[in-house]
Amino acid sequence: MLDLLIIGGSAAATAAGIYAARRNLNFKIVSKDFGGEVATSGEIGNWPGIKKIDGLELSNQFEDHLKSYGIEPELGVWVEKIHKNNDGTFCVTTKKKEELKRGEKMSENGNGSPVCDYEAKTVIVVTGVHPKSLDVLGEKEFRRKGVTYCTTCDGPLFKDKITATIGGGNSALESSIMMAGIAKKHYVINKNPQFKGDKVLIDKISKLENVEIIYNALTLEIMGEQFVTGLKYKDTETNEEKQLDVEGIMVHIGMVPNSDIVPNDVKKNEFGEIVVNTRAETNVPGLYAAGDVSNIPFKQIVIAAGQGATAVLSAIEYINRLEK
Ligand SMILES: Cc1cc2nc3c(=O)[nH]c(=O)nc-3n(C[C@H](O)[C@H](O)[C@H](O)COP(=O)(O)OP(=O)(O)OC[C@H]3O[C@@H](n4cnc5c(N)ncnc54)[C@H](O)[C@@H]3O)c2cc1C
Repeated sequence: MLDLLIIGGSAAATAAGIYAARRNLNFKIVSKDFGGEVATSGEIGNWPGIKKIDGLELSNQFEDHLKSYGIEPELGVWVEKIHKNNDGTFCVTTKKKEELKRGEKMSENGNGSPVCDYEAKTVIVVTGVHPKSLDVLGEKEFRRKGVTYCTTCDGPLFKDKITATIGGGNSALESSIMMAGIAKKHYVINKNPQFKGDKVLIDKISKLENVEIIYNALTLEIMGEQFVTGLKYKDTETNEEKQLDVEGIMVHIGMVPNSDIVPNDVKKNEFGEIVVNTRAETNVPGLYAAGDVSNIPFKQIVIAAGQGATAVLSAIEYINRLEK
């Protein structure tokens, strides 16, 4: 039985791991991958102490920092569900990368109870978010064949092509600003009559010569053969259906928290974020959440890391109370 299981492998998990190691907890970090969104963040200029650093490099430094405490996160582990045992401890079921490839299902005991891959007195959930999909025809089919949800990662693949970003917030604006420097021409497809993002980004984008903004444009379909060749949208002012020839589509329409793994009685807000208090405690004793998966405002690396540290300190107090 572990003192603590940390689920996730990025900013919040790293801070949690460092604090847990320094307090000699018997713990593990398990995650699908290491780096999470930090690794795909592009240039980062707001991590204190480092004026400018590439996201991938910062995540490598996070990994090195953990290694310096002898911590090797178990990667390729996909947590399926956290179950609360009757004695208040936790049973965590997972799928490993190989099982996922084979499409195997979670195994159960004869009595229907799950077979635990990890058992722990406390669990910290730091699983972040994933991009929302458009749910339109062709989106699934052309995923990684011209449709991407990470412009920082895949944008350079579309050098000198005609591309489009779908979305109207900061992430869509940043994607479009980046693509303006890579693509021959770039469209911004915004379903609303205006952007929701920061004024500084809106001002910047309106000055870019190879960027065309299309407002009131509801995406209907992504078209292609082997790869994307275009998109269809409805002009919601005229109800007219229109088509654009594009070879790359960046979808930036929001994020969904990776919060399905928590027990069903854990409180979430309307966005599916895990509700925590200022001590990173959920409503279930011994279960904590931190970083982007939680309801903390402002999804930022420094905030996720701070909250990861808070979660461990709270977990230590909880364990100490159990042992009294
Ligand atoms: C393009 C972009 C640019 C950004 N730029 C900045 C910036 O300049 N400055 C800044 O402060 N912030 C920036 N951010 C935000 C920042 O990246 C996030 O706030 C931060 O990464 C959140 O960290 P986290 O630890 O909560 O989660 P994440 O970084 O999202 O990591 C979640 C981890 O959990 C793992 N995981 C998820 N589900 C499971 C599961 N079921 N089982 C096992 N593991 C799981 C994932 O594999 C991943 O390792 C940017 C984000 C994006 C997308």
